[in-house]
Amino acid sequence: MRHIQVLEQANFLASIGCQHVIITELTGHGKKEFDVSTAPDPNGHSHRDSTTWLTSRGKSRYSADRLLRIFINKFGSDVVNHRMTAAKLISLYTTYMALYPKDEMSVNRIYYFFKRLASREFVISYCTEKKCKKPFISKNVRDKQCMTCTTLSKMRKHTAKPDCQPTQMDLPEPISAVA
Ligand SMILES: [Zn+2]
Repeated sequence: MRHIQVLEQANFLASIGCQHVIITELTGHGKKEFDVSTAPDPNGHSHRDSTTWLTSRGKSRYSADRLLRIFINKFGSDVVNHRMTAAKLISLYTTYMALYPKDEMSVNRIYYFFKRLASREFVISYCTEKKCKKPFISKNVRDKQCMTCTTLSKMRKHTAKPDCQPTQMDLPEPISAVA
């Protein structure tokens, strides 16, 4: 690739808050070679190499699956053996932010996410739900459904419960004191 293109990539990564170590690893260019010093993350995130967001049961887990699916759509399903490049990272970041601008995501988080997947710390499975079949990540090979389908089936179970049995809430308050 032409030198100027690589420098452009390095500058772009710096402008969206990418850590210098990552820029140097992906472009071969050190701090002194690109004129833009790393800008703060445009959304104010300071993500590092942490996996707590991947194991939480909250919103972040949806982000992880979204990121994985974007990758597979763009670059194919061999996520574990891929080689990250500056172009790929930029493409993943811009696509993710265009699709889910309100998610807590950053270029550093994206970089480390795929590094973690390559180290096989997480498992990539395909959801067993008939209408879904989408890839998702988990720490446990026994997980059969993605987060979205798990949440949906929980909601369905909750609403499908017959309402014939009175719940504790419907019963009159127990009388604690006898007059
Ligand atoms: Zn699913």
